[in-house]
Amino acid sequence: MGKVFAFHGGIHPPENKKQSTRQPIGRPPLPKQLYLPLQQHIGMAASPVVEVGQHVLKGQLIAEPVGRISAALHAPTSGTIRSIGPHPVPHASGLESDCICIDVDGEERWIEHQGLEDYTRLDPAQLIEHIRQCGIAGMGGAGFPTDVKLHLGDDHIVNTLIINAAECEPYITADDMLMRERADEILGGIRVISHLLKPSHIMIGIEDNKAHAIHTLEKVLKDCELNIDIRVVPTKYPSGGERQLIQLLTGLEVPSGKIPADIGIVCQNIGTTAAIYRAVHFGEPLVSRIVTVTGDAVAQPQNFEALIGTPFADLLDAAHVYENKLYRLVMGGPMMGVTVEHDQIPVIKTTNCIIAATSDEMPPAPPEQPCIRCNMCEQVCPVTLLPQQLYWFAKGREFDKAKHHNLFDCIECGACAYACPSSIPLVQYYRFAKSEIRTEEAEQRKADHARQRFEARQERLEREKQEKEARRKARAEEAAKAQKARTAPETTAEPAQDLNALKTAAAVARTKLKKAQKALDAARDSGEGDISALEAAVQAAQTSADTTQQALQQAEGSATPAPAAAPQVDTKQLKTAAAVARTKLKKAQKALDAARESGEGNISELEAAVNSAQTAADKAQLAFEQAESGANADSAGGADLKQLKTAAAVARTKLKKARDALKNAESKGLDGLDKLRATVEALEAKADQADKAYQGAEAASGGTSSADTAKADPVDMKALKQQVSIMRTKLKKAEAALEGLEGEERTLAEQALAELHQRHAEADQAFKAAEQAQIEAAAAQGVDLKQLKIDAAMARAAVTKLERSLSKTEEEATRATLEAELSTARQKADTLNQTLKQHETA
Ligand code: SF4
Ligand code: SF4
Repeated sequence: MGKVFAFHGGIHPPENKKQSTRQPIGRPPLPKQLYLPLQQHIGMAASPVVEVGQHVLKGQLIAEPVGRISAALHAPTSGTIRSIGPHPVPHASGLESDCICIDVDGEERWIEHQGLEDYTRLDPAQLIEHIRQCGIAGMGGAGFPTDVKLHLGDDHIVNTLIINAAECEPYITADDMLMRERADEILGGIRVISHLLKPSHIMIGIEDNKAHAIHTLEKVLKDCELNIDIRVVPTKYPSGGERQLIQLLTGLEVPSGKIPADIGIVCQNIGTTAAIYRAVHFGEPLVSRIVTVTGDAVAQPQNFEALIGTPFADLLDAAHVYENKLYRLVMGGPMMGVTVEHDQIPVIKTTNCIIAATSDEMPPAPPEQPCIRCNMCEQVCPVTLLPQQLYWFAKGREFDKAKHHNLFDCIECGACAYACPSSIPLVQYYRFAKSEIRTEEAEQRKADHARQRFEARQERLEREKQEKEARRKARAEEAAKAQKARTAPETTAEPAQDLNALKTAAAVARTKLKKAQKALDAARDSGEGDISALEAAVQAAQTSADTTQQALQQAEGSATPAPAAAPQVDTKQLKTAAAVARTKLKKAQKALDAARESGEGNISELEAAVNSAQTAADKAQLAFEQAESGANADSAGGADLKQLKTAAAVARTKLKKARDALKNAESKGLDGLDKLRATVEALEAKADQADKAYQGAEAASGGTSSADTAKADPVDMKALKQQVSIMRTKLKKAEAALEGLEGEERTLAEQALAELHQRHAEADQAFKAAEQAQIEAAAAQGVDLKQLKIDAAMARAAVTKLERSLSKTEEEATRATLEAELSTARQKADTLNQTLKQHETA
């Protein structure tokens, strides 16, 4: 006998065991029907594999396990499947559950079956599977599938195997009788379990009120090869509780929330051990069990080997129940059992006792009294809980607090309720609280599951959205890159802004220049106004226009990644600048000639002005010619015949003028002849050079002159002038519309205005270029077109003046003189106009 420890609390209720141990285990008559609940165990309900009307043999599988934690179900005897449906089952709720009903045929015909020849040679998994297929479930407690308990995996190492033979509940003697009569089967079962778990120590825990059983076991174990220790424990309720027995035998407490295997211990019920033996050695599934039928309402209390599914009524009949005395029918013991209202409730794998009690034996519970805080409940609780606290929490529906006070460690032994002087049905409160918490948790799990699904969906949608956005961005970036690649050779974003500003500034400067030029022309035409001031204004405007144009050209050049080898030069601007320089030279020459003829004025200053103007004109002309020849080099592949011809003509005109000036100076014996001669020599060289260039280019081009081209492609000066006028009108309107605008509207209007400035400048430039071309073409023929225009205008003005004088004069002689002058003036004006027209339309 080994050492026995103790556990906290416990009670000593009347045992009432002797009544049912006077008779050996009996065999009740076969019932007419058996009702087999599909859910007789912890875990998933078994699934029927038979159909209604199907005949089954004893031991035949009728429902297979579903999932890891489940148990198979077999026909306890031969018969026919009568129905599969709801039937009252042994449960505290009194509710019905699905059962397979078998009409017993009374033949008890077994299905072919056989035990395992030598289970020790089998793989443990195969042996466990055999036990699973035999539907073995714990027969002393909640019906946990035995195969699961035997297949602990690598996480647990079992040191101690405890066989629970304590059977501490009053009245119940099923295990006691099993030990007395079938100890060898128990030992056989222990051998199988030991083979699977390989514990270093095996203990059978048994209460000291079972002397007969202890004696029998000792006899059987006498020659046993296994290290099996019978540990007799004091009779005290609930020493048969798994955790309490472990504590009694080992002194160890299974921590809250843990299982015995976590501390290296496995506990098996003694009835289950015998069932394992029969399954392994004979191939018999679990189809029957020992049930104690006792109580003062039966004449012959006894243990019966009852088929699973046997209605209680059949067993009560077998024990000769006194129907008139039967007051209360209890399934299980008086401490943990439940009162049932129906005697057709069937025996299941965990049914160990049926108590048919009289009213004296189990009177109605006295009315519940207020808790007097006596603390008796706490003193008897084997789990060292605070039953009184749990009661208050359950009653006040403070389930969280009850849970926090380890409500679920309560084994519902009923010791507290038994000890309570206030007759408070404490266990009922605990069951209610547990049920509520389980329901809440189930709902919470459902809600969590729904929330997780919702969040997963939201995450998926968000992820898809982000992926879509990322794809869109990637496409946009690709498009931007492609666009950049296309636009990169033209300009970059920042310089584009500068370019626009410079373009606008250049256009404005050109507009101012045009206005100044126009004012100067008008003054010249009319002979009114301060010509010198207007010329200075034109000069200043020209400088400004040149500066802005140069800045624009530089910006355009720098903004162009792949510029031409030579810097871009605006030949039109240079052309204009050269024409302006020549005009100045002409004026200076005219002023000098006038001063020489009249003998008035500062001749030296005027000569210096002529020289300066000549130098400027030469420079401007040279710049234009160089730019022109450079611009034409690439496109034409050689010199432009028209330009070369013009350059040669201009050179000759200059030379002619210089010679005339020299001749005039020589004839009059004026100063500065050397300078004039040097100028003539330089111009002669230049004219020769220009002639040679033109002749060479003409020879290279096969003799096609640009003049011919000009003739074939006359310019519509009127249309060009009209275009300039239209653009000017639009410009004025756009400038007027700009007033009062703000923000983005103003920006857009300014951009439109800048665009109009640009177009106006271009139209004006086109007109000026055409005009200049006319001037140059005329110059090539030795005609100063501008001067011709001035002369024509002055001739027209003289005609107008004479006509006006004639209209005011009445004196005959004066009229005759005026008419003669008018006739001459008209002839002159007509000739000049005709000549001008010829050159303008050339
Ligand atoms: S035994 Fe009953 S009366 Fe006493 S403290 Fe516990 S619940 Fe209250
Ligand atoms: S029923 Fe629960 S609280 Fe009451 S004594 Fe048993 S284990 Fe303790």
